[in-house]
Amino acid sequence: MNNSILKKGVLVLFMFVLGLQTQAQTKNITTKALPRVTILATGGTIAGSGESATKAAYTAGKVPIDILLSAVPQIHDLAKVKGEQIAQIGSQDMSVEVWLKLSKRINEIFKENSADAIVITHGTDTMEETATFLDLTVMFDKPVILVGAMRPSTAMSQDGNKNLLDAVMVAASPNSKDKGVVVVMNELVFDGRDVTKTITTSTSTFQSRNFGPIGLVYDGKVSYYYQSLRNPVKKFDVTKTTSLPQVEIIYGYADASPVTVDALLTTNVKGIVYAGMGNGNFNAAVGKSLENASKKGIIVCRSNRAGSGRITLLNEVDDAALGFVVGDDLNPQKSRILLMLSLMETSDRAKIQSNFFKY
Ligand code: GLU
Repeated sequence: MNNSILKKGVLVLFMFVLGLQTQAQTKNITTKALPRVTILATGGTIAGSGESATKAAYTAGKVPIDILLSAVPQIHDLAKVKGEQIAQIGSQDMSVEVWLKLSKRINEIFKENSADAIVITHGTDTMEETATFLDLTVMFDKPVILVGAMRPSTAMSQDGNKNLLDAVMVAASPNSKDKGVVVVMNELVFDGRDVTKTITTSTSTFQSRNFGPIGLVYDGKVSYYYQSLRNPVKKFDVTKTTSLPQVEIIYGYADASPVTVDALLTTNVKGIVYAGMGNGNFNAAVGKSLENASKKGIIVCRSNRAGSGRITLLNEVDDAALGFVVGDDLNPQKSRILLMLSLMETSDRAKIQSNFFKY
């Protein structure tokens, strides 16, 4: 064999081996680069099953996580996805017990570094409360995304598959670091602290009434526009907690009688959130009962029934004299969560008020 043919042969072989190696490396890099996303399923409409594609009636929380994931195979191009069933309930049945289980599991997954981000499938009714609870109790900065659906998976207009794909996209996005807990619905990203359900049946139900969404998911891209400065400096460690102090919500309205507040005074309640009229106002009769509650050591937190805005301290109400705290811009159900968590650590009014002004 002549020398130049041999040289050419060696060169071709070298190029071939190099090509194979580069291919293998590229494949490796692509597989490695996919973030690990664990999906924790809790039920809700996203796992709802109806009788037919055109009927709205359905039962929430019927479809298990494996079936949910198999309906959206595209998520596997975005992340290495694993699913875990935490609960299978309509979120109207969400409880402190399930919140603690969920929060503990998330903290555990991040502590053992078995996921880079977590997506939680959840009913929409109480999703905003779970978002606040997790925002205050997950001790890690990695992305936690809540997602749901307004139409069951069997409906013609089902929104769950697209919402789930978007949620995994947000989870996998490097831009989602340090955003706290977020809710992804209807191609929008909301800060978990602010988001609330505003319409009973519409797919555009989720809003952050005071400050708007923080980002958008569109055409395979996640774009952030704003970030809250109010995300908690302080986190509550519930990794060993088994229950929370009892806090109830009372709704304000014209000519309300004090019987509901008075009834609570005979229970073991440690806090009352009052969803007051306007800037957290109450009539004289209810005010007297709330004052009695406060004198008994129950923390009374004024919130609002208006659905947006904040409660200002010492405005129409002499909070200092009455010993009340205000929930700032948290709605009553979110105020209740911060009050329960605060009461776990202290009953000092000034400290509790400071938690509301910091969060
Ligand atoms: N009420 C059920 C729940 O919150 C279904 C509503 C929903 O998921 O949209 O889980």
